[in-house]
Amino acid sequence: MKIAIDPGHGMSNRQSGIYDPGATHVENGFRHEEATIALKYGLILKDVFRAKGHEVFMTRDDAEDHAPVGMRAKNAKNAGCDVFISIHLNDFDDDAANGQEVLYRDSDDKLFAQNLQNALLAITGFKDRSIKKREDLAVLKFQGPSALIELGFIANDSNRETLLNPQKRNAICGAIAEVTVAQFGS
Ligand SMILES: [Zn+2]
Repeated sequence: MKIAIDPGHGMSNRQSGIYDPGATHVENGFRHEEATIALKYGLILKDVFRAKGHEVFMTRDDAEDHAPVGMRAKNAKNAGCDVFISIHLNDFDDDAANGQEVLYRDSDDKLFAQNLQNALLAITGFKDRSIKKREDLAVLKFQGPSALIELGFIANDSNRETLLNPQKRNAICGAIAEVTVAQFGS
């Protein structure tokens, strides 16, 4: 199996040649950026899948990678990927907003989304914002199974601290890989 991992945002995401940090939140003078956290998750997830003997295609590997969001699903297909996983953090004006959700496009992917949702909630204990069908997202235009995970809210202290915790991060990446392999097999 070959898995496409899409760490949300980054270079050329919204505008060509301009870095898009995604959602941001400043805490004690430190600026947390969605794109950086998503990349960290993506790179760990890559290692987890490879350790399980699967191939991985990264839509971006770092903060310089010029992969426009509109091309990411297509690039993944061209790379021969079987499944597409996009990693994001959520944002809302109200810092109290919290919880996790998984977005999917095709009805066929509903079970995959729900299984991801359940597995991650078991680790984080976050509020269940439920899975949501979204047909409008560019990255979900991948021809094949796909899901976009909104891990939690960057501005919510409890969500962010959990997601920045290395043990939780490893457990979350392990669970994403486990669900994906169980669902789509070898
Ligand atoms: Zn995002």
